[in-house]
Order: sequence, then structure tokens, then C-alpha cells
Amino acid sequence: MDTFFLLYLGAGFVLLFGLWFYYDWRDGHIHDAQRSKVIYHCIKCSQIYTGPYQSEECDCPQCGFTNGRLRF
Ligand SMILES: [Zn+2]
Repeated sequence: MDTFFLLYLGAGFVLLFGLWFYYDWRDGHIHDAQRSKVIYHCIKCSQIYTGPYQSEECDCPQCGFTNGRLRF
């Protein structure tokens, strides 16, 4: 009876930690994806938008004007 209870408790902890690690890992990947995006600012309509990773220019989704990469 006691052994069964310990096994049950252990399985619960493993499941909890597994989920915790999974969400931590998944969130880390989401943040990486956002960080690698290139931010563009449209000089025609002032729209702020993001383009693909390491792209040098990207079309504005609002007016279609091609903007260069924003440099700080
Ligand atoms: Zn625009």
C-alpha cells in the first residue's frame, strides 16, 4: 500500500516537472523567434511591422511600400 502511494506520488512529480520543463522550453523558443525578427518602420505611413530573420528590406503590409531595415 505504501509503495503504491510513493509510486503514485513520484509519478505525479515527474509529470509536473515534465510539464514545467516543456512549457519553459517552449516559451524560450517563442522568445527566440521574436528576438530574431527584423523590425521595420514604414516611412510612408508610419506603420511598425516585423519581417523575416536577417532580411534587409520588407514590404509594408499596410501600403505596400518597400522599406529598408531599421537601424538604431
Ligand atoms: Zn506603409
